[in-house]
Amino acid sequence: MEEKSAEFALIDTYFKNLTNQQEVIVGIGDDAAVIASDNLSHWVVAADTLVEAVHFPAEATAEEIASRSLCVNLSDMAAMGAVAKWFILALTLPSEKASDAWLRDFSQSLGSIAAEHNIALIGGDTTAGPLTVSITLIGEVPKGKSLQRCGAKPGDLIFVSGTLGDGAAALDGLKDNKKSAFAQNLRLLKHFYRPQPQTALGKGLRDYASACIDISDGLVSDLGHVCRASGVSAEISTQKLPVHPDLKQVPKQQYLQWALTGGDDYQLCFTIPENKRDDFDAWLSNQDFSVTEIGKITPIHHNRSQVKIDGSALSTANGGYEHFQK
Ligand code: ADP
Ligand code: MG
Repeated sequence: MEEKSAEFALIDTYFKNLTNQQEVIVGIGDDAAVIASDNLSHWVVAADTLVEAVHFPAEATAEEIASRSLCVNLSDMAAMGAVAKWFILALTLPSEKASDAWLRDFSQSLGSIAAEHNIALIGGDTTAGPLTVSITLIGEVPKGKSLQRCGAKPGDLIFVSGTLGDGAAALDGLKDNKKSAFAQNLRLLKHFYRPQPQTALGKGLRDYASACIDISDGLVSDLGHVCRASGVSAEISTQKLPVHPDLKQVPKQQYLQWALTGGDDYQLCFTIPENKRDDFDAWLSNQDFSVTEIGKITPIHHNRSQVKIDGSALSTANGGYEHFQK
């Protein structure tokens, strides 16, 4: 048996096989579900919940909470190669936040991100209680073109978008820790509250990638999901990890740990089959994406997926943020 985080074990035990799955193309276990439809596209649906003091600090502004909530959800759509179209907002508000000023800032921020991504708010629910923002996104992907976690094969090359470790560095700066080198880093704060969903990259990857995930829990943890879903292992090299120069103010061991296991990066991690590499490179050279090759997919070892870092094996359950740590 493979070690797994308690959160995923809970989902697998109680929910994964709870219902029949008619007309479900991709069900529980990927970044979003894919549902069959009669037209040329499939529907794609994802939900994410953000809870005060868990997913954002209690000091966060209404504007910041709204942008983070919508952007992290859009990141799951990007990971499927899908384009979001509609969303539903379930808002739980404590009475002190239900002021006109707070709601105006929250709704304006939500509206401006929605306009940027051309998505429409079509419903929701409003209740009183501890501040919790739950968003369900509905999007579309051409039939058979969704990017899933399960398609990686030995020999495929592993890539990530952007830079890694920014989410963890931002959190370090946000913690009640005035000593942090990142306390006033505006780039990192912006990244935390308004991560850039990699929608255009995800869309482009439909023609090239064999597997894709967004990095929300940390590279090792999320690449581990790709490995388990695909029945493969992975080898990555820390030398190749893209780390922003800002992060290099702290010891290398620290920023590498953030890049490997810190969460909240909302970049894409994807695999490209060797025989598509040239076409992918040619396509990429005409685009404006920042993408870095960090390793290779390898065969599974003794029926157990591993992510090897600089040659050392690490259980894929290590690293990443776990909601139900025992
Ligand atoms: P992500 O980090 O990409 O948002 P999660 O780790 O939240 O994904 O969830 C992993 C998978 O489990 C997803 O497919 C998600 O839809 C599913 N899932 C999470 N919680 C539940 C639940 N309570 N019931 C059914 N499916 C769930
Ligand atoms: Mg995801």
